[in-house]
Amino acid sequence: MQKQLPIINDGDSIVPYKKAMEANMKKFGKILVAVLMLATLVGACFAFTACNNDGAKDTLIVATNCEFEPFEYLDDNGNPVGIDMDIAAAIANELGLKLQIKDMAFDSVVGSVASGACDIAIAGLTVTEERKQSVNFTQTYFSSSQVVIAKNGDAILDVTVSDPENEDEVAAAIAQIESMLNGKRVGVQNGTTGYSYVSGDSDDYEGVAGATAVGFPSGALAVQAMLNGNVDYVIIDMVPASKLAAANQGVSVSEVVLTGEDYAFGIAKNNSDLLNKVNAALDKLIKNGTIEQIFQKYGYSSGLGE
Ligand code: GLN
Repeated sequence: MQKQLPIINDGDSIVPYKKAMEANMKKFGKILVAVLMLATLVGACFAFTACNNDGAKDTLIVATNCEFEPFEYLDDNGNPVGIDMDIAAAIANELGLKLQIKDMAFDSVVGSVASGACDIAIAGLTVTEERKQSVNFTQTYFSSSQVVIAKNGDAILDVTVSDPENEDEVAAAIAQIESMLNGKRVGVQNGTTGYSYVSGDSDDYEGVAGATAVGFPSGALAVQAMLNGNVDYVIIDMVPASKLAAANQGVSVSEVVLTGEDYAFGIAKNNSDLLNKVNAALDKLIKNGTIEQIFQKYGYSSGLGE
């Protein structure tokens, strides 16, 4: 074994160069082994920090999409905040787990939980039959609906319901709204129930006859597109719709509720242990008023006491 690296440019022959290469390869090989060992060590460390001694994870990894104020959005410092994020923290606390929020495109949220990349979907997520094929849902914690956002002065905003308890009146108003959506381009967030309501792309919704669903990464971008004239209306969940209308001049929310939806958390089908624990934690947090307090912190009510 040579101790010294042969000099490549000594001009003697090709051999020193070859030897230099070989030596370099050996050196490279050693470095590679060292790097791989280090990687394994680091990986093992991560595995240990992610797991307790009994093999249980010590972090609750939450899949969400922070484009859904007031449920999940980024504050001025880029931190995830909102009703769901506070509920996530309360649940992690009940479970004795650390919390990690993974902000991703909404249409990746359910899949990331189904695949095991994340533990739980907390994302203003509506319980649907289609999603039940890939994840289990916890008990529900909020009732929601799709609503139309339109430019001020649009006739669709004139459709009203005087008695929300009157089913016939509500059905007639929905039919009227849907006939006004016929032939229109409707901005919706990708992967949402709003998208399915308009397009009928899942078994949960028939779709609105003659309406074209135009998908956007967020409701905010859909509203921008409406203001730019690229879509005629936006359809999105009721509470985020009110936030979007407040944040954008010249648009209002229709008072006609188009769907009946319930929010719950999604958990992988093979993780019934976590499902049971989260349901128990939710039970406690609903009963002791924590969930309602969180909603009120953001100026809303969970409606759970009703
Ligand atoms: N509730 C709607 C759904 O589940 C929208 C949720 C969202 O955009 N975060 O599809």
